[in-house]
Amino acid sequence: MVDDDRYSRQQLIPGWNQETLSASTVVLVGVGAIGSYVGTILVSSGIGKLIIIDFDTIESSNLNRQLLYRDSDIGNSKSETAAKRLKELNPAIDIEFYHKKMEKVSVAVYEEADVIISCLDTFPGRRWINSMAVRVKKPLVTGGMFAFLGNAQVIIPYETACFECQPLVPDEELAQACTPFGEERKKEREEVEKEPPLPAVATLSTIIGGIMAQEALKIILSIGVCLQNYLFYDGLNNATTILELVRSEECPTCGDLYKLEQIEFVAYLDETVRDLEIRLALTYGLEKPELMIKEKFLESNDLIKDCLSKEKEIVFVIDNNLAKPIKIVLQITK
Ligand SMILES: [Zn+2]
Repeated sequence: MVDDDRYSRQQLIPGWNQETLSASTVVLVGVGAIGSYVGTILVSSGIGKLIIIDFDTIESSNLNRQLLYRDSDIGNSKSETAAKRLKELNPAIDIEFYHKKMEKVSVAVYEEADVIISCLDTFPGRRWINSMAVRVKKPLVTGGMFAFLGNAQVIIPYETACFECQPLVPDEELAQACTPFGEERKKEREEVEKEPPLPAVATLSTIIGGIMAQEALKIILSIGVCLQNYLFYDGLNNATTILELVRSEECPTCGDLYKLEQIEFVAYLDETVRDLEIRLALTYGLEKPELMIKEKFLESNDLIKDCLSKEKEIVFVIDNNLAKPIKIVLQITK
């Protein structure tokens, strides 16, 4: 039963259906600056269920913009703290949280979503969640910020351009997918990781978070016009630009023409999963591959003979250097 008084003002909006909203599930990946605000809006508005995914912990440098957190939360889990605060805000909402990397969360969790919202601050992370949204065919609202600049994008898999169709991604980030694994590359990466943190201010995270939450509500309620489909906002000049991105048939994630070759690879009964992962990393230029079979990750310490039973097994390889998982057929031999 929906609390009509609590939601009475928004129900005055033509087309607003609180019952529909209260039956919806949103998966929110990343509860930093933008995610804090998106979560607050959706929970206040009365969605049915919010699933929060974030493996990060709260630092004092987060508190200028990550509005769900307090000084006393420093050192604690973001996902758990966000879940607790949001539950206080609206106890009627079903809130679940995963304090782990999104890659480690079962596909079934993403399948539960009516909308997936990505508030991640890295390109590899955005590429991964994009490929997951395309895989489970769920609308994805994604966004980011840099100082007084921000962007938001709405992706309806197989209908609108996905994150990879028109890569608004720096070339060096895209190049990661095909850069060979090696010492030079490792050194380069370490240098990138040492870069100073990005400038960030709360005004931008609330504006972009507000737009993203609004797009999610519109998708759930089927009202208004969906963002078509990339918005760029410049807060210093109050300028908003909207780009209409076009789907690419050759997109490696959602394109019709792109057919990823199935790779065959030998695995030995007496080797460990880690041995196999290392050989895959060296062969395909991967960073730290992980193997998944039927939505379950294989444990690195396990022996192949203990976790794979058939002569041929199809496994998926997931890695930071891959835009989407690659499928390999393991030929298991002595
Ligand atoms: Zn695409």
